[in-house]
Amino acid sequence: MTNRMEKKSQQSYLPYRSFSGYLRGIFGRPLRKVPIDPGFGCPNRDGTTGVAGCSFCNMESFVPQYALNVKDPVEQVREHLKNSPKSEYIAYLQAGTGTHAPVEKFGDLVACLMQMPGNMGLFVGTRPDCVNEEIIAILSPYVNRKLVWLELGLQTASDTTLKRIGRGHDVAEFIKARHLAGGKGIPVCAHIILGLPGEGRKEMMDTARFLAEHKLDGVKIHHLQVIRGTRIEGEYKKGEIVTLDAVEYPVLVADFLERLTPWMVIHRLLADAPDDLLIAPRWPTRQEIILDIRDKLHSRCGFQGRLWSP
Ligand code: SF4
Repeated sequence: MTNRMEKKSQQSYLPYRSFSGYLRGIFGRPLRKVPIDPGFGCPNRDGTTGVAGCSFCNMESFVPQYALNVKDPVEQVREHLKNSPKSEYIAYLQAGTGTHAPVEKFGDLVACLMQMPGNMGLFVGTRPDCVNEEIIAILSPYVNRKLVWLELGLQTASDTTLKRIGRGHDVAEFIKARHLAGGKGIPVCAHIILGLPGEGRKEMMDTARFLAEHKLDGVKIHHLQVIRGTRIEGEYKKGEIVTLDAVEYPVLVADFLERLTPWMVIHRLLADAPDDLLIAPRWPTRQEIILDIRDKLHSRCGFQGRLWSP
């Protein structure tokens, strides 16, 4: 560890509400999330909503390695836990769109996963336009027994940008899904991306204010990564877009965190694409960036929620 990292690691006070701290508060210890590919695909690729997909997405980058050979979601959990079969964990429908299936099929999968030994909960990653009353009715009975979260891809609070990146849904659909889940006590985590094409600091901070305004329970913050095989790759190679650099990003995230509500759980601070698929940006290690974000907040006596007003 470098001296710089040693110095920063001594800063034990976290100026934001971390996901690991949140889990420790509930379970008394960190718990692992077991990523699963439920095999439901994506409505933005199979023609339901669109065929081209989102411009930044290569679905390969989400699929856990073991899911390439093991298609059954329950078997994927067993495969992931084969070296520690007694451990407790949270199942995570991560790859593709976790609710893009006939309701009965989704309900059966949820029931199977929740009954597995060691299962402490379920996180469902999906799109706002793939959430409805029936999906919420399947998840809500577990809320008081297990840790259940809905992770909704928003990416940005700007409809103009959503159109530009080909998301196939708008902000209004996100608001509707957020409140459907919230109405039944299911916490919602929004996925957002900083540095999307056409967005500057103003649009990014608008997204932070939007999350606070709609009382999101959590957020996963990513930086735009140019992944092999995406439309963004073509735009990047033609010089039509630039990516954020490792100096400006920690400042942006610090600014973003200060505009959120103090209770929002910060599930993630930057993206993490597989190295062999990543074209740009090439940054220092993940840990260095996280420490830089903390350092930016510490050095200005900042903290999550400092600029939020109810
Ligand atoms: S980001 Fe999600 S919705 Fe968009 S193409 Fe990829 S899997 Fe589909």
